[in-house]
Amino acid sequence: MPIARPQITLDGDIVTPMERPYNRGTLQSRRTFARRYHAFFRGNRHHMPPASEVSDFNDAETPFFVGVDVGGTNIKVGLLDNEGRTLAKLSLPTDAAQGPEASVQRMGTAVHEVAERTGLKPEQIAWVGLGTPGTMDIPAGKLLEPPNLPGWEGFPIRDRLSEACDRPVTFANDAAAAAYGEFWVGSGRDLHSMVFLTLGTGVGCGIIVGGLSLEGEHSHGAECGHIIIDFNEDARVCSCGQPGHLEAYASAVAVVKRTAEALEEERDSSLRQRLQAGEELTPLLIAEEAEGGDALSLEIVLETARYLGVGVVSLMHTIDPNGVVLGGAMNFGGEKSELGQRFLQRVRQEVSARAFPIPAQNTSVNFAALGGDAGYIGAAGLARQAARQSARNSTS
Ligand SMILES: [Zn+2]
Repeated sequence: MPIARPQITLDGDIVTPMERPYNRGTLQSRRTFARRYHAFFRGNRHHMPPASEVSDFNDAETPFFVGVDVGGTNIKVGLLDNEGRTLAKLSLPTDAAQGPEASVQRMGTAVHEVAERTGLKPEQIAWVGLGTPGTMDIPAGKLLEPPNLPGWEGFPIRDRLSEACDRPVTFANDAAAAAYGEFWVGSGRDLHSMVFLTLGTGVGCGIIVGGLSLEGEHSHGAECGHIIIDFNEDARVCSCGQPGHLEAYASAVAVVKRTAEALEEERDSSLRQRLQAGEELTPLLIAEEAEGGDALSLEIVLETARYLGVGVVSLMHTIDPNGVVLGGAMNFGGEKSELGQRFLQRVRQEVSARAFPIPAQNTSVNFAALGGDAGYIGAAGLARQAARQSARNSTS
């Protein structure tokens, strides 16, 4: 008799055997296909489906961890096993305006809920990992002045979440958590040291050196969106108010601004028709027109890669990682698209032209693999690391 325990499908649905017939054969064949596909294309040493898919609880390995990724709009919560497989996940609105106390209570409930969905008791969660947008004081477990969480300044979020879910909580910057997710089970899983850059509204960064996430002495390590790539007086001004930062050139906001400026200069472009038809100028629109053969759009995309490449070279000369991983929503179609490949190639060319020969030849530059799930996965990975450290400390 199989155990009548709730099952989670690859789509994240909860299915209990009593509720409806559970077609295990179909799920298994899908999983087998996913494993083979993944092993063939990604060279995955664990031969398992992509980490952001929900895995079968029956394959899970203890201990269990929960990752909580707090964004300005949504909070993602996931239960993972010791191998980095997601067993259950959910998303809830941040409702930042209602204040951090109300939000942290809902996070605590969500931590219990992801466990209960798989039949686990909350006390079977070893540790919880929490990732939040900066700025923050990591040793104190406090938010400082997170720009997209107004009213949350100074909130002791780590300890309040720990009280709300009654589990130990480890605390990290959201980009550092996403970096750790890619390092643990994503695009960086074969790397020992890596630089992760996330291209979205801003440019986020996380750095892993020898398996450890670089926090810095003032919780401001790896703020690489703010490395200086232009010191001239007319340099573009960053969202932080300072001129010449990488983010002022390579973020989604910067890409849109640079394109709008080029259109104002009467440059010929098929973007005009789409804007005149009422569409909004976004990196996605620019990517679509670049793919359709628009010269200006392509120029913007490749110029963005060039700025990024310049920043990457400085980071390579600082860290000397095995690989650089590019994540975030702005990937110009990513790995599977021709434009995404041209973008990546252009970053690599810049690296080849400007970096020292040995790192230039030996440092990989690739897209991230986990998409928007990297944050909660990495937060759970950091929880696993904290649990191991805690166990070592208690035995020594
Ligand atoms: Zn800046």
